[in-house]
Amino acid sequence: MEQDGTHKKNKTVLKNGRIVTMNPAGDVVQADLFIHSGKIAKIGKISETDADVIDCSGLLILPGFVQMHVHLCQTLFRGRADDLELLDWLQKRVWPYEAALDAEAMRASARLGIAELIKGGTTCILDMGSVRHYDVVFDELAQSGLRAFGGKCMMDHPETVPDTLRENCDESLAESEWLGQTWDGYDHQRLRYAVTPRFAISCTDELLIDSSKLARDHGYLLHTHSSENRDEMSLIARRAGCGNVEFLHRLGLTGPDVILAHCIWLNSAEKRLMEETHTGEAHCPSSNLKLASGIAPVYDYLQHGVRVGLGADGAPCNNNLDMFVEMRLAALLQKARFGASALKAKDVLRMATHGGAEALNLGDHIGSLEVGKKADIIGILDETVSTVPMNDPYSQLVYASSSRDVMFNMVDGRLLMRNRDLLSVDEQQTIALAKSEIKRVLDRMQA
Ligand SMILES: [Zn+2]
Repeated sequence: MEQDGTHKKNKTVLKNGRIVTMNPAGDVVQADLFIHSGKIAKIGKISETDADVIDCSGLLILPGFVQMHVHLCQTLFRGRADDLELLDWLQKRVWPYEAALDAEAMRASARLGIAELIKGGTTCILDMGSVRHYDVVFDELAQSGLRAFGGKCMMDHPETVPDTLRENCDESLAESEWLGQTWDGYDHQRLRYAVTPRFAISCTDELLIDSSKLARDHGYLLHTHSSENRDEMSLIARRAGCGNVEFLHRLGLTGPDVILAHCIWLNSAEKRLMEETHTGEAHCPSSNLKLASGIAPVYDYLQHGVRVGLGADGAPCNNNLDMFVEMRLAALLQKARFGASALKAKDVLRMATHGGAEALNLGDHIGSLEVGKKADIIGILDETVSTVPMNDPYSQLVYASSSRDVMFNMVDGRLLMRNRDLLSVDEQQTIALAKSEIKRVLDRMQA
């Protein structure tokens, strides 16, 4: 794949790729794709002469992956919280690490996560931060070119949150509002604010209620974890006398502007609530298995019209941020649970692209390759020893391709990676910074 010259007149032609459009008709076409001012202007035979031309022969061209649930603040803790269930994982490992992050360590963590996401073909994320330093995460997202929804996490419960991370309800809301005012809409809506109370256990009723009001006052997305682990469910049952989703629903945290991560342990009334309120679900199969949380019945959710997308969750519970791994696992798990014909490759790829975009209410702008949509596009090697001979592109992409086959990544028509070289992030510097900053975090924890 070669790129001819620099960005001429904001026009790019992706020449002669095999385009997996993910449009409603499911078209896969051998064609050129013309990008003008960050949007897809034409798909077909393009003879534009004053555009950058990228030779895409030998590539599958796809809409970029949408990851519905990640934690950039945790990337530095990769490999440091293995073999634990959720509540121990949080209380013994992840919260102490988060409490020890200063602004520079947060910057290193975010940059490392962003670099991994871009290299693996992700173009859009929904990110939940830690309680502090989310401004730094937005700053890194701004520079990287990645599309993102994100917000500082909110935690104020006096009995469950350690002193080092516990916030005052009003101050948590005020900081969220300030971050939203500062960053929401940045770079033509590339960055959006999301109000992100961590999970019901870590928040007072007051904080949960007020965060849903804050989100609705400003038109922000609401994002939290729900029904991930059985011990979490017992704590909520003791506190509220109902399931986690029902509890969130009572406090205003369901609706088409809400994304709940995990949703493993829902009763049938709660499944109906998800459907009736059009609440989105972020499915994170690797994380759910590694923390021994369970298997979310996403095939069932999809059959009932629930909007479901995929996410890697954080590096310490995965330990990668790799959409290919999540796609493959998502398919295999539903087959184990519902039978071999459940969740076909095309349905999984849809969850990873247009499904996620729809759940984020961005389905009209990203998630498929159609004229008028934003040019969030990736190119993946068509033929490798691990993938040939191709029968069906969806099968190949979900079951056989890997993140290392992603050759370019583009958001709003801007190349973030070309020939596997990152263009907006310095890869070697990012690796060096991650190593030095985790050392500083560990030193602080031992001091
Ligand atoms: Zn999470």
